Amino acid sequence: MTTTVAVIGGGYGGITVAKELDAFTDVLLVEPREDFVHHVAALRGLVDPEWTDRLFYPYARLLERGRVLRDRAVTVDQNGVTLASGERLTPDYVVLATGSAYPFPAKIDFRDSAAAKAKIRATREELAGAEKVLLLGAGPVGLELAGEIKAAWPEKAVTIVDPASGILPGFPDEFRAEIRRQLDELGVELLLGTSLAEPPVSEPGQAKTFTAALTGGGEVTADLWFQCYGGAPHTAYLDGELATARQANGRVDVTADLRLPGQPRVFALGDITALPEGKLAKVAGDHAEVVVANIRALIEGGELRTHTPGGPMISLPLGPSGGATYAEEVGVLDAATTSEIKGSHMMASRYEELFNVA
Ligand SMILES: Cc1cc2nc3c(=O)[nH]c(=O)nc-3n(C[C@H](O)[C@H](O)[C@H](O)COP(=O)(O)OP(=O)(O)OC[C@H]3O[C@@H](n4cnc5c(N)ncnc54)[C@H](O)[C@@H]3O)c2cc1C
Repeated sequence: MTTTVAVIGGGYGGITVAKELDAFTDVLLVEPREDFVHHVAALRGLVDPEWTDRLFYPYARLLERGRVLRDRAVTVDQNGVTLASGERLTPDYVVLATGSAYPFPAKIDFRDSAAAKAKIRATREELAGAEKVLLLGAGPVGLELAGEIKAAWPEKAVTIVDPASGILPGFPDEFRAEIRRQLDELGVELLLGTSLAEPPVSEPGQAKTFTAALTGGGEVTADLWFQCYGGAPHTAYLDGELATARQANGRVDVTADLRLPGQPRVFALGDITALPEGKLAKVAGDHAEVVVANIRALIEGGELRTHTPGGPMISLPLGPSGGATYAEEVGVLDAATTSEIKGSHMMASRYEELFNVA
């Protein structure tokens, strides 16, 4: 009898596991979204109409043997998975790949693709009419969004506010200085070590001019704002024995072979893991390779592989031709190389190939 594997979540890690196990196990991929969303390109998809449709890839084209179930796990315990539809799955292996939420536009919280595209287009129209844009949060998302807005509309004033005293802590000074230099060149205003005294009066992404006081003194006026902080892992469904692996911040403890402690048949990967490393699609993909190898080893016999968290890495475009990249092996890479690695194509070809839509 063929081994059954339920992959919970069809993001970057989940699709890799499902695709690679498809040939020799019975895969069931559980995912509430209509289409895979290529969130790595979400900010380009906001400013550039040509990219909006390219964020979405049909799950129907992913697997040859396995099934994609458009549903959501509401509880997962040591014995199986209960779906929102009421269906109960009791596979041989469960792979938890439910990723994390992040405020729009970095992540798109619509399960229906037509509604998601309509939201992106409506927000782009609001943004197009705004002269002054305020971004709350100077992390990778806030900085990348500033670069995208400036590349699409150089005349717009973009201000980033963050209570931290510097951008991108944890990355080398040379990388941070290069990003700051390019932001200065683009005319992006960075207000660090301060925050809004009160939340903005408008909804994020909604054009409505407001002036807000800053805790560090002074004020900021904007026609539209976005929240660029506040990611949170999707793990509230963990139940029974599995709930003990869930930390207070929602992330999940895993062993070196990426199983939940004491759970020989339950794996977890990607953004939900409590491993000390960047939460990246690249890392979710690395985890997926280990999970695939280990499920194979458990079925066919053989040694289990382990995952060792890597050092900091980031490829941060500031528009299609700007930005910088850092990884320990290569050091700091310039704007032209960052454009080649990511900014000019947003890594879409990988997903066009995977979903057979090239
Ligand atoms: C703007 C932006 C740019 C980025 N750029 C890069 C980059 O250049 N390079 C890089 O490596 N990383 C990048 N990242 C990070 C990357 O997107 C995440 O690290 C990656 O998505 C994590 O993959 P994952 O498989 O863990 O989860 P996700 O990709 O978040 O997928 C999780 C999936 O699980 C589904 N799900 C959630 N709950 C349930 C449930 N209860 N039942 C069933 N399904 C569920 C969700 O609908 C989702 O489809 C970027 C992120 C953002 C927001």
